[in-house]
Amino acid sequence: MDKEIFDSYIKAGKIAAQALEHGKNLIKIGASLLKVTEAVEKKIIELGGDFAFPPQISLNDIAAHYCAGPDDKTVFKEGDVVKLDVGVHINGFVGDTAVTVVLSKDEKLKLLEEASRAALNSALKIIKPGVTLSEIGRAIHAEITKRGFSPIRNLSGHGLDQFVIHDKPSVPNFDTGSEEELVKDQVIAIEPFASTGAGIIYESSNPTIFSIKGKKPVRSPMTRDVLKDLEQYNELPFALRWIVKKHGEGKTRFALRELKNIDILKEYPPLPDKAHGLVSQAEHTVIVRDKPVITTLQK
Ligand code: MN
Ligand code: MN
Repeated sequence: MDKEIFDSYIKAGKIAAQALEHGKNLIKIGASLLKVTEAVEKKIIELGGDFAFPPQISLNDIAAHYCAGPDDKTVFKEGDVVKLDVGVHINGFVGDTAVTVVLSKDEKLKLLEEASRAALNSALKIIKPGVTLSEIGRAIHAEITKRGFSPIRNLSGHGLDQFVIHDKPSVPNFDTGSEEELVKDQVIAIEPFASTGAGIIYESSNPTIFSIKGKKPVRSPMTRDVLKDLEQYNELPFALRWIVKKHGEGKTRFALRELKNIDILKEYPPLPDKAHGLVSQAEHTVIVRDKPVITTLQK
């Protein structure tokens, strides 16, 4: 790996870690989800990072992909299981990290948070070139199930590449039997999810995160104007809120509809557990080496 690329991964990881820590400390009963999201965004920009994807704060049965819309009124309340997921890039090289905050003294919920964290740590301990995906999945599965919860099977960790947030390989949260081995200098995100419910998520509706995939001619000048602005994200996900702030609600909705119609808009709807169990998540980005470099562990 080039020094320049390595340094970009390190910088992105550090900013993601600091923004995550900042946001985590703001998640309190009575705080506004939108305000915490904006504070995390502000911190990332202050530290010189670019968004690999919008910061997401998913509550309770939603495992991932909840991002405050322009008028989000959510306030954290007693008993909430709050996942904060942050992605930062430097020159396209990504640090992806997540944490769960449990706003409760309930022992079972604390154990749920511990389950995904312990699973992540257990996986990180065995990371080196030559370890198989099935060994990682087995390590994650063991920590979650021994605490009485289910890993989410249809969400997984993933490879990372320049301006690519979901590259191969898919890093499973259970033993898939895959004998595929990690190789030196591969960059992966490991993200176990633990659920009190089904351990399977589905795609719900009303996405507030989108990305552009590919290029196609666009008819309306209004949509062209919005699309030109979206080019800055290099096909990485962006928040509806960011676009509404700049172009207004009507124009943004119109443009997104047209981009969807011509099939160059990818949507990321919130992902709830099928049985609406409560879900925790933990995530780090790691450069695979004999001494692995966990880029999002820096303070
Ligand atoms: Mn993430
Ligand atoms: Mn990830």
